[in-house]
Amino acid sequence: MAKKEFKAESKKLLDMMINSIYTHKEIFLRELISNASDALDKLYYKSLQSGDTGIQRSDFKIHLTADKDARTLTISDNGIGMTAEEMESNLGTIAQSGSLAFKQEMQKKNGENSEDSASNDTDIIGQFGVGFYSAFMVADHVTVTSRAYGSDQANIWESSGTDGYTIEPAEKDEVGTDIVLHLKEDEKDTENGENYSRFLDQYELSRLVKKYSDYIHYPIQMMVSKTRPKKDESAEAENTDAKEDENKEKKPPEMETYQELETLNSMEPIWKRPKSKVKPEEYNDYYKTKFGDYQNPARVIRTQVEGVSSYTALLFIPSHTPFNYYTTDFEKGLQLYSSGVMIMEKCKDLLPDYFNFVEGLVDSEDLSLNISRETLQQNRQVKNIAKTLEKKIKNELLNFLKEDREGYEKFFHEFGRQLKYGIYMDYGMHKDVLSDLVLFYSSTEKKLVTLDEYIAKMGEDQKYIYYAPGETIDKIDMLPQVKAAKAKGLEVLYLTEEIDEFVVRMMGSYKDKAFRSISEEDFSENESEDEKKKLEELNKEHEDLLKFMKDTLGDQVTEIKLSGRLGDAPVSLSSKGGISFEMEKTLNKMPMNQGVKAERVLELNPDHDVMKKLADTFAAGDKDMTAVYTRLLYNQAVLLSGLTIDNPAAVGDDVTRLILGK
Ligand code: ADP
Ligand code: MG
Repeated sequence: MAKKEFKAESKKLLDMMINSIYTHKEIFLRELISNASDALDKLYYKSLQSGDTGIQRSDFKIHLTADKDARTLTISDNGIGMTAEEMESNLGTIAQSGSLAFKQEMQKKNGENSEDSASNDTDIIGQFGVGFYSAFMVADHVTVTSRAYGSDQANIWESSGTDGYTIEPAEKDEVGTDIVLHLKEDEKDTENGENYSRFLDQYELSRLVKKYSDYIHYPIQMMVSKTRPKKDESAEAENTDAKEDENKEKKPPEMETYQELETLNSMEPIWKRPKSKVKPEEYNDYYKTKFGDYQNPARVIRTQVEGVSSYTALLFIPSHTPFNYYTTDFEKGLQLYSSGVMIMEKCKDLLPDYFNFVEGLVDSEDLSLNISRETLQQNRQVKNIAKTLEKKIKNELLNFLKEDREGYEKFFHEFGRQLKYGIYMDYGMHKDVLSDLVLFYSSTEKKLVTLDEYIAKMGEDQKYIYYAPGETIDKIDMLPQVKAAKAKGLEVLYLTEEIDEFVVRMMGSYKDKAFRSISEEDFSENESEDEKKKLEELNKEHEDLLKFMKDTLGDQVTEIKLSGRLGDAPVSLSSKGGISFEMEKTLNKMPMNQGVKAERVLELNPDHDVMKKLADTFAAGDKDMTAVYTRLLYNQAVLLSGLTIDNPAAVGDDVTRLILGK
């Protein structure tokens, strides 16, 4: 068969592996063993699902064979195997998240500092699960012989690196996969040259398995050479002689070597080991290899519950959103084990949607092995577990917030939207679980604060939690209402995410303090009675002008009024009736809600010179120019509110008239 080319991006990754000067090349073994273990897991589910009783879990094995003469190391498994098509798509392309993320990170680093890309390679290879291609860090030729479960035909995939690969029919008696690595020549000349031969040494292989793959729950076996005292046929006869002559000199026993199949890993799952015996790095490594992340988790939760449903859980809060987090490909869920045996890869019922970012596993003795016949009772078990897990996760997040503020803010940057979404969904049913976990930007602290922190600083006479929606912090900061509120010393929460205002409205209040938008037209908490009275009079005084302006603007505004809260701005737009401008924008993005409009109120600053000019022009009877001013001021307010102008050409005409004064 003709040689096939690797996909372009795979080729790049492969090239990096081949030419890698990374010092921990030994991780290739971890990667290949973990693939073998995955293949065994997959076969096990398949057999459970199809009810194939011919498959015995106790037969599952990963086997290492080192052949010093041929300089090959073979990793074999009797897992699910691959068809020719699967070899093509799994080994010819980067499909998996770890490799993809790795490549993206490489490109980023290389882009930043292209001269020094080689040393960057070494920094980050260790952080990623680089997968199958890591074989090429130690081998110059790799063959994969595989027979898929349910198929009679085996195939062999072969490659010597970037120039491509071939796939051809092959012979293989049993289902499973053999990966043969033809190790590179040792680098003798250089001082730090890599010694690839060590990967043929039984002690070294045994050490590497213990170091990286000890918890793999299938036996990883290897034939090892051992020595023992030679059993001498004549020994018994000599024994009788010994009786006769006890002083006869003892010979050192003669030794012989023999071969024995040894299981190299303890197979003890990490979550079954005593807590005190597991180092943080071990959890991190476990997380990275098992859940395909290239960064350490932000938090590790390990818990054991005895009761109606007894279980052990090992959970991880990732430090960043997975690349597919916001796509429909993303699947939430935890691995489900029954007494150490994985029975489900993604049990989605164990996690509420708002904690969908949590990774990990639950191991319970109360669950039956057979997931294809889920009984009601099992569902109840899962529900019980889910309920207590939710509390655990919540508590862990609270601890995170308390113990590591910076880390929590980073976490919130990644997953905060999901928590907020959780408050909003199901008609606010979960707001009590989530509302003390969310953060908002504070106008006075100039950083993210919790609602508890906000409340703790409220003055006695402050009834509400104030907020202002807008596109960005800078834009909100420039809103006249916000400026005025800040001048009076009010702390305002800036809601910059689309979902924020919906969330705040769904909450309604937090610990009996209601939320209040300072962008609503009836916001007047910071006005004294005197000020209110004076405003009323002013509005009366300018009644005719305001009516003329309303007629000029027509339906574009609901109301025009003089307001005492604009600071040094001449005009501002506020909303009325519950739908803010930000909500208007968000709702209109949804296909169902076209044409939603917030009611607009144009507020004018009576103390501003612009108002004087407007009043004078109107009093002088120049209605044309009063109309020009009105439209321009309205559009100015529209822009300030982050909305778009409906008719830019008309604004252009008005500007021209303004400049020409006619
Ligand atoms: P990942 O394991 O993260 O998916 P890898 O690069 O390690 O990525 O492996 C790529 C794919 O090749 C796997 O997803 C799997 O489909 C297939 N594969 C690798 N090794 C084996 C194996 N021993 N048995 C069956 N399939 C395998
Ligand atoms: Mg892998």
